[in-house]
Amino acid sequence: MRVRITYDKIERTFRKTVKCLGNCGRYVTRQKTFFQTENPFNVHELTKLPKDRVQIVRELHETGDRWQLVSETCSHCKTKEEAKQ
Ligand SMILES: [Zn+2]
Repeated sequence: MRVRITYDKIERTFRKTVKCLGNCGRYVTRQKTFFQTENPFNVHELTKLPKDRVQIVRELHETGDRWQLVSETCSHCKTKEEAKQ
């Protein structure tokens, strides 16, 4: 008998509203979902032990927090930049 093991995908969605880098005064709203899978191969960098759910959620929040600090360029400024090249 084959046993199918399903691994839990843990995901968190983050949103941010940041000022556009293009100096147009607009604000850019972005949404992004980060995920990790809880499985025996998803191990902690230092301990090499499989990460548990709590650890994964904590890491997703760290990743999300970092992403929320990253500046963005709005679609208008992006189009302008691309036209210049
Ligand atoms: Zn802009």
